Amino acid sequence: MAKGAGIVERSLVRDADILEHENFVLDGIDVSGRWNTMLKSRVHASRDLQAWDAVRQNLVATSIDRCIQCGMCTAGCTVAHEIPDFNPRQFIYWVRTGRTEELKQQANVVWRCVGCYVCTHHCPKGVNTAEVIETIGQWLATVVPNRMDPAFHANHHAYRRQLARRGRLSLPMLQATFLRSLGRQHELWSPEMQKTVLKMLWDGRAFKALAMGRPRRWRKNRRHVAAQA
Ligand code: SF4
Ligand code: SF4
Repeated sequence: MAKGAGIVERSLVRDADILEHENFVLDGIDVSGRWNTMLKSRVHASRDLQAWDAVRQNLVATSIDRCIQCGMCTAGCTVAHEIPDFNPRQFIYWVRTGRTEELKQQANVVWRCVGCYVCTHHCPKGVNTAEVIETIGQWLATVVPNRMDPAFHANHHAYRRQLARRGRLSLPMLQATFLRSLGRQHELWSPEMQKTVLKMLWDGRAFKALAMGRPRRWRKNRRHVAAQA
């Protein structure tokens, strides 16, 4: 039988946290396998509140205070359905309890958030979960940038660069910057991409993207946004 097979919601427990002997006899009684399964105790001796401080600097993400750990965000999350380790409720728990190491170890998972805001709409306590996860991801990008996979890195910088330069996001431009920074510009001329461009020319989206203006009071705010990029 597989390790920890008797544990309910086994997928939520890491292999390293399960103590189980395949063959174990205690006082003449065979307690092999699932009969001696134990979980490592979760002792948390020190709180590292760096992530908590970073989240609380973002005005929108301060709604984290209202989280009651109900898990509705994870239940509805687009990414959690595909990647079991992606668990917004747990990321919030780690931030609040100062489990920074766990958070850093899962950085590449946190960065998988697609910013769909389903979690925010599901939350019964009005936590802006999507902003919280985004803020945690931004903080991780500053403390463990070397863990970032090159594609995430390129994506992250394409977003920030475009926001700093234009104050708005245009998907076609993002895609072009992203592919160029990965040295994959040839993909811009792939048959799928050509089909997309034709469609966008046909329905006018291409012209809108090219004519995309700057936000109001852009001159005033530009320096502040650029400093953050
Ligand atoms: S749905 Fe809201 S209250 Fe529930 S765990 Fe997620 S963030 Fe916390
Ligand atoms: S915004 Fe991120 S955390 Fe929220 S539901 Fe979408 S993928 Fe999940």
